[in-house]
Amino acid sequence: MAPSNSMPETMTAIRWHPPAFDIRVESVPVPKIQEPDDAIVKVSLAALCGSDLHVYRGHAGVDKIHISGHEFMGEVVELGSSYGAHSKGRPELYATLKVGDKVVSPFTVNCGECDVCRLGYTCRCPVGALFGSPALEGGQAQYVRVPKAGGTLFNLSDPKSWHSTLSPEMKEKALAGIADSSLLMLADILPTGVFAALQALNHPKVLPALSGRPWPASFFPGDVSTTVLPKDRMLTFAIIGLGPVGLCASVSLLDMLSEKQLPFQIVAIDPVESRREKAMAVYSKIDQAGKGSGKFIAQSIDDAKKTVATWTEGVGCTAVLEIVGNPSAISLAYDLVRPFGAIVSVGVHGEPQMPFTGRQLYNKNVSFDFGRCPARAMFPMAFDLLVKRQDVFGEVGGLDSLVDRIIGPNEAPEIYAAFDQSKIGKAVFDMWK
Ligand SMILES: [Zn+2]
Ligand SMILES: [Zn+2]
Repeated sequence: MAPSNSMPETMTAIRWHPPAFDIRVESVPVPKIQEPDDAIVKVSLAALCGSDLHVYRGHAGVDKIHISGHEFMGEVVELGSSYGAHSKGRPELYATLKVGDKVVSPFTVNCGECDVCRLGYTCRCPVGALFGSPALEGGQAQYVRVPKAGGTLFNLSDPKSWHSTLSPEMKEKALAGIADSSLLMLADILPTGVFAALQALNHPKVLPALSGRPWPASFFPGDVSTTVLPKDRMLTFAIIGLGPVGLCASVSLLDMLSEKQLPFQIVAIDPVESRREKAMAVYSKIDQAGKGSGKFIAQSIDDAKKTVATWTEGVGCTAVLEIVGNPSAISLAYDLVRPFGAIVSVGVHGEPQMPFTGRQLYNKNVSFDFGRCPARAMFPMAFDLLVKRQDVFGEVGGLDSLVDRIIGPNEAPEIYAAFDQSKIGKAVFDMWK
């Protein structure tokens, strides 16, 4: 399909330079279609994310100059030759995506056609790649090339093209009232938060408390002489790390627990006081139905250890959500979790060894769920939560908003530095400002 005539030769992009802490705003060539499945997206908004900091700090073993950013949305301006009515039997967007459609991209590319994608494990598609990495130029630019776009993108202009609990009409109505800076959370932080909460609540180790049937009867139907007391069914969660993803995980977990009317107590942990304040401000904005009947408090590390010990009579948390990705955070998760507990980690871990031994894992019968969120697969759940919780996801700049500010790309070097030092929250770049 023909590119729109207005495509310029060069564009503004935010690029990372080795070895570390070097972000430059530069003029680079506009990307072109390279493969038939490619789309070129004109980026309206792109966000800065905590996991961008691993590359920024030089921790990721990267030495290639590249365009940063894996969270972006925008408008399709060019499509490869795969697109059109002739593409039968492929993911729907190959037949339906058009130039001019408004799209949000999950932060990794996936084909949507292989056995990994078909099972929903889209972040580990063998032909996938992470935007804003040496393998694939990122979205903090005026234009971005999206490989396998028909399997990857979400077409916000065509709400029929994804399934959720909302009807296409409800989706359309909701979309009309949601700001782009809010929709941008669907690229990563909201699906990742929902993913962390979903894995924690659905872990097999949580089932005895959920079902009231002791292990292993929790897996089977039929009568059982239960030993479980009402107090054993109290679900105790810790959420470690209250950056934007930690806040999304908190809101999502609260939503799942209150929806199922489960008894729960959550301690949300961060050493930075301003992040704890934001977490409590966000919590206070959620209506009573969304808070359920449980407790939620944000605390420092030491206070949280005491709280978990008191709440659980020294036993530990049912599950811990680790959203940071460093040895001290995962070590704290191990300390807080109960025997036969589950640790869900969506933080991006680097090179150091895990700070516990095999014997320590054996001694607690601990389970781990590690890794990247399959954002493509999680999108429908995340969208539904975004619609439902516009009270906390809808605004910009307040103490209780997830998005801290919207700035132009020229501010990128200062914004990266301030975000690196936890001085600001989620920053969004308007690439045309
Ligand atoms: Zn991200
Ligand atoms: Zn695939």
